[in-house]
Amino acid sequence: MLKEIVSKLKAGSSNLDIRDLQIDFAKMHPEQILKLTISVLDEAPLCRAFELSILGLMPISDWDLLAAYAIKKFQVSEVAQEIVSFAALQKPDSLHPYLETFILTGNEAWTIPTLAWRGSGSLDKDRLLRLMEPGDGTTFLDRAFAFGLLLETRDQQVILDAIAKAAAVELFAEQGTAPLQLHLNGVGLEFADGSFRKLHSDEVLHIAFPEDYFPEEESAFGTRDKTYQPTWQLQDRSLIRADAIIGGLVEERCKICSNQLHRLLEFTDRAVLPEFYRDCPSTFVTCLTCQGKTGIWEFFFAHSQTGAIEHMYEGEPIVPELLESAFVPSEVQLVDTGPRWAIQDHSLSNSWENLHRVGGSPSWVQDCEYLKCPRCLQTMKFAAQIDSGLPMEDGSEWMWGDSGACYLFFCGDCSVTGVTYQCY
Ligand SMILES: [Zn+2]
Ligand SMILES: [Zn+2]
Repeated sequence: MLKEIVSKLKAGSSNLDIRDLQIDFAKMHPEQILKLTISVLDEAPLCRAFELSILGLMPISDWDLLAAYAIKKFQVSEVAQEIVSFAALQKPDSLHPYLETFILTGNEAWTIPTLAWRGSGSLDKDRLLRLMEPGDGTTFLDRAFAFGLLLETRDQQVILDAIAKAAAVELFAEQGTAPLQLHLNGVGLEFADGSFRKLHSDEVLHIAFPEDYFPEEESAFGTRDKTYQPTWQLQDRSLIRADAIIGGLVEERCKICSNQLHRLLEFTDRAVLPEFYRDCPSTFVTCLTCQGKTGIWEFFFAHSQTGAIEHMYEGEPIVPELLESAFVPSEVQLVDTGPRWAIQDHSLSNSWENLHRVGGSPSWVQDCEYLKCPRCLQTMKFAAQIDSGLPMEDGSEWMWGDSGACYLFFCGDCSVTGVTYQCY
């Protein structure tokens, strides 16, 4: 089967059968995914139909060998570039020995898997600090890119060095501190009064739905069983960390349309969640009828001690053209899928992976965008994200705009939650 797949890819096959064949092979022989992928890199480095998602099933320890192999072909093969990008998401340290081989200036910088620097500490620090200096042929973008990579390490001392360097070489002299904060937000941090604040928890908990929650997909072009993905395979009971409720309506009403608000996610026992959520309100709501469609994208809600929710909207009421149904209500489980899935890229995940998650780094569809608390004006903390594709009570399927995702935030100091969404 392995030989058959490689020869079909080599011959340029790109129909759905060849993708299914790769998925079947990966499901049956996860221990041979490494061998298959290396054969593809050797014999069909220019093929267009390698099914990248199968690498999510590969034993995590195989990434070191595969990354070493893909790095060698990085300049000549798009498949190799995709594999390296996936390695940067799944096991960044598999790329740490090769950080210095990446060319960081000019057009080539566009192909760089920036997440590969995550957790690399000061391994590549000296080179990057040097690149931040003004020099012949070095553009502002090159210098800012090097700064961004130092931040990607998420190492607080390295980041402090980068900030000090940026000040010394006046990197952002013309733009003020805004680009610096934006870069920092991109790695889930904020820097104020000499110390760092984390904007998201490190651990990711995937939302596990009951088996029959999603209606069976019709087998049309492009829709196939995606449940082989590890982020959907969440039956291991020892990994369940908490229970939650998704969907349905809550008692409180939207101040724009006066209809009952929609429940996005409710933590049934917040005490069992990581410390990060200590002062997080239990319930996240929005109005699916009004959010976005009224031209207001960011909704905020104040939560009282007793759990009552108040929509923080002070404008005039609006009569909606179309009343939206609610997500099918259900109990769900929050499952610890481990550091391998701490960061998922919304577009790379290619609708295969489960992007309904609590914590970890947000999978932004567009640029990083943490909401500001309307009461204290602090940057809010990220709590969870709800992807498109949830079933509605009226039988339809929910889309955040065009296949987007919704992001839930909280300010613990003010007991305020915020909701926004991004789409393609
Ligand atoms: Zn409304
Ligand atoms: Zn606040």
